[in-house]
Amino acid sequence: MVFLGILTNAAIIPIFIVLVAAYILYGYVATGQQSKPKNDPNAPVSVNYFPSRKCNYTCGFCFHTDTSSFVLSIDEAKHGLRLLKEAGMRKLNIAGGEPFLYPLFLAMLLRYCKEDLGVESVSIVSNGSKIREKWMKQHGQYLDILAISCDSFNPETNKKIGRGDDGLNVVRLFQIAEWCKKYGVKFKLNTVVNAHNWDENMVSEIEKLAPFRWKVFQCLIVAGENDDETRKRDARDFLVTDEQWRTFCDRHKHLPCYVPEDNNSMASSYLLLDEYMCFLDKGEGMMTKSESILNVGVKKAMEQIVWDKKSFADRGGIYDWTRLDQTQQGSCGGGGKKELEW
Ligand code: SF4
Repeated sequence: MVFLGILTNAAIIPIFIVLVAAYILYGYVATGQQSKPKNDPNAPVSVNYFPSRKCNYTCGFCFHTDTSSFVLSIDEAKHGLRLLKEAGMRKLNIAGGEPFLYPLFLAMLLRYCKEDLGVESVSIVSNGSKIREKWMKQHGQYLDILAISCDSFNPETNKKIGRGDDGLNVVRLFQIAEWCKKYGVKFKLNTVVNAHNWDENMVSEIEKLAPFRWKVFQCLIVAGENDDETRKRDARDFLVTDEQWRTFCDRHKHLPCYVPEDNNSMASSYLLLDEYMCFLDKGEGMMTKSESILNVGVKKAMEQIVWDKKSFADRGGIYDWTRLDQTQQGSCGGGGKKELEW
């Protein structure tokens, strides 16, 4: 009894302290890669990655132009995605260029993000011209959201903009919307309001397509990309006045899926990662870029650019972005909740 009493007083308390410390340390090591970045206010929560600048279209306002044909090896791209996940990335959006010019590379990235990294949401922005049902059937399970660019339902307007000249954009759009439904992928639309479409009424077609989200952007000038005749694109003739922009918005704002984004909320609010995995700063003035995350890591690269987190939050950068909740989603084809709380 005396021995037990001594043990209680002299040994149990230090043992208890050691056990508590070990428990805390274990928790940190076991969950460190997930929990630490979640608490980090500077974590790259949502990243837009442009694996390639190549595109089969020639949109006059394109602000990520075909200035290089570089594409990382799949192993390097995977390594970069792992670094981003470890730094706190929860959503990855893959854009371009046209991502479906590299369908196998794209499929490998999606599968890696979902199966190996457990990224919450993976989306693609595409012009829709190269998507095939076979691809959707095989790889749709790794894709949360498919966003298709659609600037007009008039074939002539699409030609003027530079969105191909076979006149079949709208036919493809409806086909892709069907495939998304069939393979459990959320269907989204993106529209750039410009000099050729600002007076178009898209209400009835959008209602038929019923995207869960319709992002409407104001045509944007990005220095170094589309700001004058020395660049690959010169978007100056595509710009709309604030009044034209408001007219388009007023005509469509009653649609539940409608999410407008003017130039003010766009600049600097996106984390953009180019084909070398360098962050781009397309905010004010000439575009700048960081060193590659593959060389200096995510934190240091992020310190080299401006990311306006407030604008990101203000424009609803975090929303219901996984494929699991399709049935609960509001869309332009029906009502329901649209946004999750920040
Ligand atoms: S489809 Fe997209 S990437 Fe291709 S030219 Fe048009 S805006 Fe640029």
